[in-house]
Amino acid sequence: TKRVYLFGDGKAEGSARDRNLLGGKGANLAEMCNLGLPVPPGLTITTDTCNAYYEAGRQFPEGLRDEVSAALSKVGEMAGRQFGDAEHPLLLSVRSGARASMPGMMDTVLNLGLNDETVRAMARESGDEGFAYDSYRRFIQMYANVVMGADHEAFEEILEDEKARLGHELDTDVSAEEWQTIIARYKQMIEEELGTPFPQDPHEQLWGAIGAVFSSWMNARAITYRQLHDVPASWGTAVNVQAMVFGNFGNTSATGVAFTRNPSTGENRLYGEFLINAQGEDVVAGIRTPQSLTEAGRIESGSDKPSLEKSMPEAFAEFVEITKRLENHYRDMQDLEFTIERGKLWMLQTRNGKRTARAALKIAVEMADAGLISPQEAVGRIEPGSLDQLLHPTIDPKAERNIIGSGLPASPGAATGEIVFTSEDAVEASRTGRKVILVRVETSPEDIHGMHAAEGILTIRGGMTSHAAVVARGMGTPCVSGAGGLRIDSRRKRLLTLAGELGEGDTITLDGSSGQVLKGSVAMLQPELSGDFGRIMEWADAARQMKVRTNAETPADARAARSFGAEGIGLCRTEHMFFEEDRIISMREMILADNEDGRRAALAKLLPMQRSDFTELFEIMNGLPVTIRLLDPPLHEFLPKSPEEIAEVAGLLGVDPDLLASRVEELHEFNPMLGHRGCRLAISYPEIAEMQTRAIFEAAVEAAKSTGAPVEPEIMVPLVSLREELDYVKARIDAVARQVIEESGQSITYLVGTMIELPRAAIRAARIAEAAEFFSFGTNDLTQTTFGISRDDAASFLQTYRQKGIIDHDPFVSIDVEGVGELVRMATEKGRQTRPDIKLGICGEHGGDPASIRFCQQVGLDYVSCSPFRVPIARLAAAQAAI
Ligand code: PEP
Ligand code: MG
Repeated sequence: TKRVYLFGDGKAEGSARDRNLLGGKGANLAEMCNLGLPVPPGLTITTDTCNAYYEAGRQFPEGLRDEVSAALSKVGEMAGRQFGDAEHPLLLSVRSGARASMPGMMDTVLNLGLNDETVRAMARESGDEGFAYDSYRRFIQMYANVVMGADHEAFEEILEDEKARLGHELDTDVSAEEWQTIIARYKQMIEEELGTPFPQDPHEQLWGAIGAVFSSWMNARAITYRQLHDVPASWGTAVNVQAMVFGNFGNTSATGVAFTRNPSTGENRLYGEFLINAQGEDVVAGIRTPQSLTEAGRIESGSDKPSLEKSMPEAFAEFVEITKRLENHYRDMQDLEFTIERGKLWMLQTRNGKRTARAALKIAVEMADAGLISPQEAVGRIEPGSLDQLLHPTIDPKAERNIIGSGLPASPGAATGEIVFTSEDAVEASRTGRKVILVRVETSPEDIHGMHAAEGILTIRGGMTSHAAVVARGMGTPCVSGAGGLRIDSRRKRLLTLAGELGEGDTITLDGSSGQVLKGSVAMLQPELSGDFGRIMEWADAARQMKVRTNAETPADARAARSFGAEGIGLCRTEHMFFEEDRIISMREMILADNEDGRRAALAKLLPMQRSDFTELFEIMNGLPVTIRLLDPPLHEFLPKSPEEIAEVAGLLGVDPDLLASRVEELHEFNPMLGHRGCRLAISYPEIAEMQTRAIFEAAVEAAKSTGAPVEPEIMVPLVSLREELDYVKARIDAVARQVIEESGQSITYLVGTMIELPRAAIRAARIAEAAEFFSFGTNDLTQTTFGISRDDAASFLQTYRQKGIIDHDPFVSIDVEGVGELVRMATEKGRQTRPDIKLGICGEHGGDPASIRFCQQVGLDYVSCSPFRVPIARLAAAQAAI
C-alpha cells in the first residue's frame, strides 16, 4: 500500500477527494496545489498508516521510512534545499490532520531539522543570526515539549530569567549571542531533566515528531474531543510534513488566518487576523492580540495597528484573489491559514470553516440565492443540532446594561452565571446544578470539560480565532474573548473590572453577540425565528416527508412548540399534569382511598382539572392531532417519602400518619420502572383511565365549539406487551366515549393506539395492531428493556463504555439501530401487515435526535415527536433524511 502522498509545484498525488486517507488538511493542501496556488511542497502520511502504527503496538510499519525518505528528497528538490544538508538545509513543519478538524487537539512541531550545524547555515543564508537562533530555540522548546515530554514552563522560566539578567523586556530584544546562551541552558536542562540529550540528527528529529503526532491521536484531549463530537477513534490522523516558510522573517513577513465570510454573523466579507513577524501558532494561541486583515475590519475594531491591506498591499491583493477562488471552488465558506515570507504569500491550509448556526444559515441562504448551491444543498449545509444556538435567548435591548468590561463578540447568545476561575470549578459547580461563567486569561485544550460545563466563557486575552472563541462557537456557548480591560487575580480569585472587583460566585452576564460583560443578571429576549432561519425551514419543510410533532403537556410548551413549527402533539404525558400543588393532594386522596367509591370520589375532583387542561391543549393545537397518553408512572411517585412529609400530608388529608406510612410502604416497589405502571395501572384501577377518557372527550367537545375546528383525539395506552391488555383498556375507553358522545349529542372521531415500548410488543406487533389504530415507539423504555439497562442508572457506566470504545454513542440519546432499531423495524412491518394504514410515530427522546430521525425515515414512520426546543432540529433533520 502507498503510505506517502507528495504535493508541491502545482501538482499533487492526492486531491480533496482523498479526505479519508489524507485527512482534511492533507487533502486540501493537495487540492490547492492542483489548483496551482502557492503551497510549500510537502508530503502526507496516510491515516491508514496511523492505524497500522497502533495495530503494531506503536511501531512504524515496514517500508514507511524508505517511502518518506524518497518523498522527502523530492520535496527537497522542489524547495531547492535538502533535509539535513549543512549548506542549504530544508526545514520542516510536522502537523497532524484528521478527517474531521480537531482544532488544537493534536500536536505540531515547527522548524524541524535545525541543529547546531544547520542553524549556522540558516543564519548565513538569511543574513539574520538573531532570526536563526530564535527559530532554533523555538524548535528546541516545541520539540522537547511535544516529542520528549519536557515541561513547557521550565523553558519559559529560563527565558524569563535570562531576559531579566540581561535587562530585556521583549523577546525581540534578545541578540543572537544571547539566544545561544539560552539555547545552551535549554539543552542542559533537557539532558538533566530527561536523561537524554536533545537530538541533533534531523532524521531522528523527524521520526520523533511523526511518532508524536500519531501518539497525540490517543492523548486525553483528543479522546475527549472525539467523544464530544462523535468522531470514531478508528479514523486515525494523517501527518503532514511540509517545507517551512517563515512568517517571523522580519517585518516583511507575517502569518495569519482568515475566513472568506464572517464566521460569527455570516456576513459576506473577508474576515481575518494576522501578526507581523510571527510564526504559525502565535495567532491562534491568543498570546499576542492580532491585527485585522482588512482596513474595514481595522476601523470597525477601533485598532490603530495597520491592516494587512495597508501594510502589504500586494500580498493582500493576491490573497484576496485566492480566497475568492477557493470559496467558489469548494462552494462553501473557507477557513484559511497563510504565511508571508519576505513579501511572498504562501497558503498553508484551507477548509470549510466552522461557523455559528446564525452564520451557517446566512451563508447557506446567500449562496443558494446566488445560485452557487441549490436550496436542498443549503438545507444540507446546516447541522441540525446547531439550531439550538439560535433558540437561545439574547439580551433584551431595553434592559439596563451595567457594563463592567468588554471584549470580542466571539460566540453569540447571552448567558448569565456565577464566576468561576478554573475548569475544575466549572465542572464541579455544574454538577450541583449551578450555572457558571468560566473566566480565564485564555483557554487551552485542557479546559474543554470546563467549557462544556459553563453557560458562558470569558477570556482576557485572545482574538476571534483563539482557542476559546473557536471551541465556544462550535459548542454554541456564548463567549466573550480578549476582554483586555479586565484582570484576573488568580491567587485571590478576583476579577478586577472597570467597576471594581468581583469574586468567585458573583453573578455576571455575557453578551456573546456584542462582546459586553455585564454585572448581575439581565432581562433576556426569546429568539427570532424569521429571516434566514425561516427561509431554510421553508425549504426543509418542502423537502421532508415525516411530520414533526412535539412532546408537551403544558400550555406554555405547546405554544412554544407551535411557534417552532410543531404539527401536533405526539405525546402528552398526563402524569406530569398531576404534580402541581393543588392537584397532587387529590391524587393522593385517590391513591389512599381504600375502595373504588373513595377512588371515584377523588377522581371526580381531578376530572374538571384534566378537562380544562385538555381543552387548552386542543385549543392551542387548533385542529392539529393530539395524542394523549393515559397515566403511566407507578402510584408511589405521588406519595410523600420522608417521615416529615408523611406527617404533613397526613395532616392535610386528615388521615392517620401511620396509615399513610403503611400505604407508602405497601406501594413500595423494588423495580418501579418494571413495576405497577403503564396499562397495568389502568387494569388495576380502570376508574383512573375512565376519568381521563371522559376528560379528553368532554374537552374535545368544548374545544371543537370554541375553535370551530373538529378535534380528533388520539388516546394512547402505555407499556402494553399483550394484545389482551390493550383490549381491556380499549373497551373502557370506547364505553366512556360512547357515553360522552351520547350526552353531548356530538359525534367525535378518535383513535385508540398504543406505545410500542417493550420488546414483546414489538415482537407481537401484528396481533396488537388488530386492536391498535396507531403505534408510537417509546424508545426510552424500549432501549431500557431491550438492553436491560436502567435508563435512570445508565449514565454511570455507559460513560465508561464509551471511553473504552465498547459503544460509540449513548443508546438513550441516539437509537441503537442494530438492536432497538431492529425491533422498531420489525414492529412497523408487522403492524402494517395487519393494518396497512396504521399511523406510526416515535415519541422517545430519539424523536429529536438527527441520527435517529434518519433511521425513522428509513423505516417509514409517519411522524417524529420531540420536546419543543428540538422541533426545528427535527424539521431540518427530517428534511436532510429525505433528501
Ligand atoms: C418512552 O418510553 O420512550 C416514552 C416516550 O415514555 P416515557 O419516557 O414517558 O417512559
Ligand atoms: Mg415509556
